[in-house]
Amino acid sequence: MSAITGAAMVAGIIGRPVTHSLSPVLHNAWIEAAGLNAVYAPLAPTADGFRALVDGLRGGVIRGVNVTIPFKEEALAAADTASDRARLAGAANLLLFRADGTIHADNTDGLGMLLALEIQAPGFDVGAGPAVILGAGGAARGAAAALALAGVPVVRILNRTADRAESLARDIGGQVTVAAGDDALDGVNLIVNATSLGLGGGPGPDVDLAKAPETAVVLDMVYKPLRTEFLQQAAARGLRTVDGLEMLIRQAVPSFEAFYGQAPPVNVDVRALALKAVGESA
Ligand code: NAP
Repeated sequence: MSAITGAAMVAGIIGRPVTHSLSPVLHNAWIEAAGLNAVYAPLAPTADGFRALVDGLRGGVIRGVNVTIPFKEEALAAADTASDRARLAGAANLLLFRADGTIHADNTDGLGMLLALEIQAPGFDVGAGPAVILGAGGAARGAAAALALAGVPVVRILNRTADRAESLARDIGGQVTVAAGDDALDGVNLIVNATSLGLGGGPGPDVDLAKAPETAVVLDMVYKPLRTEFLQQAAARGLRTVDGLEMLIRQAVPSFEAFYGQAPPVNVDVRALALKAVGESA
């Protein structure tokens, strides 16, 4: 392990709970492989303690933080400036503390999704047709904003609670619409599970993948288990699949670059480390 001195670059992740986050596994493995004098620490404030913690870090006390459930919306609200994708998503998973005391917010979840598609579905053209997002929570917002900014012609939101789908479509606007029941998968190019269904091995979203064109790609944000029931159904239907772990790893890359001023090293298999951490074999 590289030496950590008083000059170490410090970053971390704020969440509640944060115990099961894979981000410390990824970032600390990259830090070690790069031989950096740096740390990435988990921080779990009380439910109403997020703002005080973040305000206390202003002025560059640490370089930045990732933010996870349930603080992503509060993170955006705490920032002084924000990227278009964070503003459009209404949520931030990355806060950077500037020396002048200001905080900049970004959202790299959607970027992680787009990069995971490039890696696991090579040649796939995300802009070639409509996308369907299952879910309307924070992850769905990040995905919808990224797909809208990437020029996807129509982004349909399908959610158990219709009001939430409507407010997501209203907030992002443009090509983001509420899916119309049975027709949701008509001519679809991309299907994204952004619900928590399938987490821990349960059943996935209740949509009939037989209605999707055989060229469609299916991405499941759930990564535990890695091969969710939904991805298994998609593969059985002959559709290309992309897993949530690749998305998780890819969303961490721009954070690492922002915290430590360099790209993560490629000589460490963080996917294998993450799989081990969630109890799966590589
Ligand atoms: P969230 O804000 O709590 O939203 C949860 C979504 O799941 C809502 O749309 C909710 O529908 C839906 N849902 C939950 N239980 C359901 C059920 N029984 N039937 C139908 N729909 C149900 O959570 P989130 O932050 O968006 O995260 C969603 C998932 O994405 C989580 O599993 C999270 O771990 C994963 N995620 C992965 C990554 C990655 O990098 N791979 C990044 C972010 C998130 P209602 O609105 O009707 O409640």
